[in-house]
Amino acid sequence: MRTLITGNWKMNGEQAWTIKPAGFDKMVPIQARKHVDILLCPPFPYIRELFVASASRNIAIGGQDCHASEQGAHTGEVSAEMLADCGADYVIIGHSERRAGGETDADVQAKAKAAFRAGLTPIICVGETLEQREAGEALSEVESQISGSIPDQADSFVVAYEPVWAIGTGKVASIADIKDMHAHIRELVGAETRILYGGSVKPGNAADILATDNVNGALIGGASLNMADFAAITRAAS
Ligand code: PEP
Repeated sequence: MRTLITGNWKMNGEQAWTIKPAGFDKMVPIQARKHVDILLCPPFPYIRELFVASASRNIAIGGQDCHASEQGAHTGEVSAEMLADCGADYVIIGHSERRAGGETDADVQAKAKAAFRAGLTPIICVGETLEQREAGEALSEVESQISGSIPDQADSFVVAYEPVWAIGTGKVASIADIKDMHAHIRELVGAETRILYGGSVKPGNAADILATDNVNGALIGGASLNMADFAAITRAAS
């Protein structure tokens, strides 16, 4: 299974960041990452230009969310079809920052169906809060999110396990906890599905995390804003 290294820029960036794929490619040329898939997920307005700047460099582009509908009266929303039309191959769905704003498993499932409809691969995010982990409910919470968020008739998808308490905090789940959780998710989603870890992945911890059983890549927020860090993580995956 090919490793997938994904950068989630969240609401960061500007027009000038379209030079970043070229900078990354200089640091880790295609030859040096031939067993790794690279994906950047910028804010919506930059998707098309990032796609144009990335296509020849073997870097895929994804959205950070999509609406469940194909089109219509949904002010401010973007459909999966529009992302695909702008060059995206993937879309992140159910990120904890969106779940915290009220997005439910049913919403995430509807968006995953929209992604399939548009020919995109959804990256379906799941993860427990600190309270749930401390109460011994991490595995059951993630299992419940997976069963509620993944459509019964699913095409190819990716799962990102992101403990909520590890996102943007500098705290990382222990290798033992990552191993247990990914083994559990593996049983639920089968052998063909890539399972990413996300939560304060940095150049210094990436090699250990990526070497863990059933970790097929990483979803990276903060460290993906700096191409030198993103490149170092990619090298750790290679
Ligand atoms: C994320 O945005 O999904 C994430 C894991 O962020 P960070 O790497 O900054 O913790």
